[in-house]
Amino acid sequence: MKPVIEVNHLSCTYHDGTRALCEVSFQVAEGECVGLLGPNGSGKSTLLLHLNGLLPEQPTSDGAVRIHGQPVTDTNLLEVRRQVGLLFQDPDDQLFCATVAEDVAFGPVQLGLRGAALEERIDHCLARVGLTGFGHRATHHLSHGEKRRACLAGVLACEPSVLVLDEPTSDLDPRGRREFKALLREIPATKLIATHDLEMVVELCSRVIILDQGRVVAQGPTADLLGDEPLMLAHGLERPHILQHRHPHVLRPGPTA
Ligand code: ADP
Repeated sequence: MKPVIEVNHLSCTYHDGTRALCEVSFQVAEGECVGLLGPNGSGKSTLLLHLNGLLPEQPTSDGAVRIHGQPVTDTNLLEVRRQVGLLFQDPDDQLFCATVAEDVAFGPVQLGLRGAALEERIDHCLARVGLTGFGHRATHHLSHGEKRRACLAGVLACEPSVLVLDEPTSDLDPRGRREFKALLREIPATKLIATHDLEMVVELCSRVIILDQGRVVAQGPTADLLGDEPLMLAHGLERPHILQHRHPHVLRPGPTA
């Protein structure tokens, strides 16, 4: 199937000399939901920021990142950001308007939506994330789970074809996690999810990519990689309980699955 996300030999070094990504290559096909795993500091967030050109230190990636075949460069950032919705790790970094409705409206307003169409879009997206009636609420008074859902409503309001999520279930209680996973399952966009929540990965992702020290160390079908205990332990991860009763089936496909 046609790749929606293409990353080819992407490297990134921060100003202080920290090498965050080294020759990272992978593809994600249309409609796929792929888990991005790796220990803290392995480069997951840095990689996600590249997908919609949000890295101020490196505004262009020299064609190393393509979305729907279009290189992510300074000149087409607007178009890329229209396609790629990024859910930040910390909802407080994403919510910046006084009320929930204003926040959800921000993206569509940038895209030119006004009047009744805008109101409809806001209501539709709030309903989609289970926040009907929350439009007038102050963003800073929401619970953590509500903040996450408000952020997702704001992302969905731009109707992205690609959803990139950074630790979307961290800090959620079990019910919040369940509800959020159910929400994600219903969204048909192509998804790349950076997470330590391996249960979510087993439930939602058909494929995973494992990063360690800025490099892709494995990628392939979820059950194969997550069931490979030596691989998981070698990269600061663990075989999830949900797979403990299954026999490990070790298979490590090549760089493009
Ligand atoms: P992860 O999301 O997997 O925890 P990050 O992408 O946040 O990994 O970090 C990858 C590496 O880049 C780490 O060594 C981290 O300390 C470093 N890093 C992240 N952001 C910056 C920054 N703004 N300046 C310098 N180093 C950074």
